[in-house]
Amino acid sequence: MKATGGSPRVRFAPSPTGYFHVGGARTALYNWLFARRLGGTFVLRIEDTDRERSDDAWISGILSALEWLGISWDEGPYRQSERLPLYEKAAAELFAAGRLYACDCSRADVEARNPGRTTPGYDGYCRDRALTPGPGRALRFRTPDEGVTLVHDVVRGDVEFPNSTIEDFVVVKSSGDPLFVLAVVVDDISMGITHVIRAEEHLPTTPKAVMLWEALGAGPVPVFAHLPVLVNEKRQKLSKRRDRVSVEDYRAMGILPEAMRNYLALLGWSPADGREVLDLEELVSEFRLEDVNNSPAFFDERRLLHFNGLYIRALDEEEFLRRALPFLEPPSGPWAPGRFDRAQFERLAPLVKERVATLGEVAGMVDFLFADPFVVDDHDRATSIGRDPGARALLEQVAEGFRSCGWDAGSIRAVVTAAAEASGRKLAKAQAPVRVATMGRAVGLPLFESLEVLGRERALGRVLSALGAGAGTPAGTGPGGAAQPAGGAG
Ligand code: GLU
Repeated sequence: MKATGGSPRVRFAPSPTGYFHVGGARTALYNWLFARRLGGTFVLRIEDTDRERSDDAWISGILSALEWLGISWDEGPYRQSERLPLYEKAAAELFAAGRLYACDCSRADVEARNPGRTTPGYDGYCRDRALTPGPGRALRFRTPDEGVTLVHDVVRGDVEFPNSTIEDFVVVKSSGDPLFVLAVVVDDISMGITHVIRAEEHLPTTPKAVMLWEALGAGPVPVFAHLPVLVNEKRQKLSKRRDRVSVEDYRAMGILPEAMRNYLALLGWSPADGREVLDLEELVSEFRLEDVNNSPAFFDERRLLHFNGLYIRALDEEEFLRRALPFLEPPSGPWAPGRFDRAQFERLAPLVKERVATLGEVAGMVDFLFADPFVVDDHDRATSIGRDPGARALLEQVAEGFRSCGWDAGSIRAVVTAAAEASGRKLAKAQAPVRVATMGRAVGLPLFESLEVLGRERALGRVLSALGAGAGTPAGTGPGGAAQPAGGAG
């Protein structure tokens, strides 16, 4: 499986120990974009040797998030837990060649021998004790005392690690389990990986990987590219305890995969001309590993939302419906079964599409049609109706007009316009009490089109019910309160 004919082989190697992180998704995407343009191979490898922390549920989460993002793999998923014999074999070879030695020191032993020592790491005590491998004995790599190990990194340039700073590191634990650093190298060799594109946090272990790679006589080491860390607005490394980092959460919020992909691509890279909105083909043809920069990338959720809004608005009507419906229909929609009416939603969908940043916001925009009971926001009621002394007269006139006007947006508008004129206010100002009474909130979709879909009976019922609830009486003296009667059934 070695690379042939110059086409690159890359791997994405997640550890399934938690929700799939946006940083992992960015790593996967960069590997994928790099491989796609060059006709390379993208290998998916699940690094599940940490048995306590790995879980199959996390693996399914990773696979489904990759599929959602449109990141397809050409080989795998391989699982390291199924490849243990390969790591054992490599360790045996390295031991036989004198590159590893057995060690039975505990951490306490090392500390007891070196009280007050400031250099961290192993002191080399077992190097020349010629212990045979066995239970309770770890295997350590004999690192050179002198010289430097050079890591050539596409993003960072040449990084030199003095060998004196690299301890004789463990490659097989005293339990017999291979360590990550060994498994990764053995796999990268056997899978013919030519480019290792991964998170910056792995840079410090890279000289160890280079030493192992060379000790295993595996030919030239791969090209390394360590991607810049993702930080929050306080320039702190993104953390699952502090920040929203799981791809699944963004998916559940109604971020579109194409917006996520576009946004992730820009976390550490941008095209030469600074364009920001790039579709998949453009990303594939323009992405260059050499152009990835090495400064921390700010994961700005607001910017992601902005991108998402752009992508939502660019969807055609039919596609918007297809994407939005799972956020509306049972079982995932917010309303009781039977309340959601697709035909009503479709009439307003074009207006909704222009006004949301996520698919998750769609339900809130049309909640006034489907919620049962219909609820008026207390704060908006107090501001737009309760404390507005002219609201009562205006709503009374609107109710009067609603009884007999034609029921289309134009006629509804005419009724509200007439009521506005009669009360000496601008149309925009006159809309506020009507909107709060009928749609429950001071902001939302255009009023007249919304009321047309809501229907005369419900619109009128809600205006009357607002009047009944003390419209126009000073705040605090009206009955006010939480949910109003539904204002007409349906
Ligand atoms: N399994 C590692 C991780 O999830 C990646 C190791 C690598 O890419 O070499 O962070």
